[in-house]
Amino acid sequence: MCGIAAWLGPGAYASVYEILVGEQHRGHDAAGVAFPAGGEVRVVGGSGYVWQALPSPRESPGPLARAGVVIGHVRYSTSGGYSGYQPVKSSRGLVTVAFNGTIHNYVEAAGEVLGSRGYAWDAQALADIIEHFYLEEGSLADAVREASRVLRGAYSLVALTPRGELVAARDPLGVRPLAYAYEPGVLLAVASETGPLAGLGLEWRELGAAGYLHCHADGGRPECYAGSLPGAGEPRPCAFEYIYFLRPDSVFEGVVAHEARKRMGALLAGIDGEEVDVAVPVPDSGRSAAIGYAEARGVPFDEALYRNRFTGRAFISSPGVRREVLRSKFTVIPSALQGKSVAVIDDSIVRGDTSRHIVKLLRRAGAWRVHFRSASPPILFPCFYGVDIPSRSELIARRLGVEGVAKFIGADSLLYNTVENLVRAIGRPVCLGCFTGAYPHDLDLDLLEGRFSLGRR
Ligand code: SF4
Repeated sequence: MCGIAAWLGPGAYASVYEILVGEQHRGHDAAGVAFPAGGEVRVVGGSGYVWQALPSPRESPGPLARAGVVIGHVRYSTSGGYSGYQPVKSSRGLVTVAFNGTIHNYVEAAGEVLGSRGYAWDAQALADIIEHFYLEEGSLADAVREASRVLRGAYSLVALTPRGELVAARDPLGVRPLAYAYEPGVLLAVASETGPLAGLGLEWRELGAAGYLHCHADGGRPECYAGSLPGAGEPRPCAFEYIYFLRPDSVFEGVVAHEARKRMGALLAGIDGEEVDVAVPVPDSGRSAAIGYAEARGVPFDEALYRNRFTGRAFISSPGVRREVLRSKFTVIPSALQGKSVAVIDDSIVRGDTSRHIVKLLRRAGAWRVHFRSASPPILFPCFYGVDIPSRSELIARRLGVEGVAKFIGADSLLYNTVENLVRAIGRPVCLGCFTGAYPHDLDLDLLEGRFSLGRR
């Protein structure tokens, strides 16, 4: 998934650091920042959480602390292996880019524009393609506009030149979110979500699908101009952002994530005929849906699972780390469960490992019946728009069907939400590719599964 950030104005590094911490839930494989210094853009970063990968703003070295413009990134890897970090410098160093999403045609686009199909990471291809057009056009905004004509996929991006020229842009279909706060002559702040900007006390706005901001900071006073990328269609924001990725306080295309999740839970309750005594969330991303479910069914909501927040999110961890995260992540509060018929509500079931582990924990702690409920419909297709679901073979609902999944996770019953309920809960047209196979673009799934699975399992 990834999170991106930018700040133009005083205190740029400390502010970008804070935004990145505020979007740490979008990725913790790696973090990085980039800033202009001495006629070039310097990149600093490494593996792990923001606090592991980046110098503390209190102790950061001179040029970084003094920078008037900084861009940043937290990485959740969906392409190019699990090592490496963004922002990424172009081959000649003229453009540095951080982006959120996946460009699924990066091999073909690099072949068409650069004459090379040898790229193994979409981020590097993106930086080099923008640089190619920057050399032709002389303006970073024009370069991003031209690049968007050949790129297919999802990308919200920030791009920076050694002169401190900055562009923030969202792809023509607006699959990934992007928000900003702008006070002319004072500051520009950019974040993947509205929540981190609200946390800084800023008056944020969402950047619309296909929108971009082109900014300079002559004399340290930011001036931005807005424009549109070509090829805008009906926006297709990712449904999985509403289900799982967004912070509950974030707003995406005008919809508050927490409210959308509560509606998912309420609509799920409407199709659930099972007798239950209590509704229990899988923390944290199942909580909002469980509140909506409990309210709609008129049963108590209770916390029976404690999630250790310092172990990270299992779904966005690399496969080697995922099992480790899972083991140390949950403990049970048995008092909420003894002898009860429990509805346990999670946001989704992708691979089934977390659900299976949780059902086992609840039974061991004394639950009489465990009814597993998924706020999202079954995930049956891969994603090539920025979520790490690269192959059909790892999707448990596709392999086993509903009854098979219930058996695998050990639940007394299993109920998924419907696609219709999901769309009603969000209340606007969204991308539903991983649920229905209807993607915003025509995709060759066999080709893309090979491309995006390479070296990642
Ligand atoms: S395919 Fe699924 S996860 Fe990917 S962008 Fe579409 S809704 Fe989101």
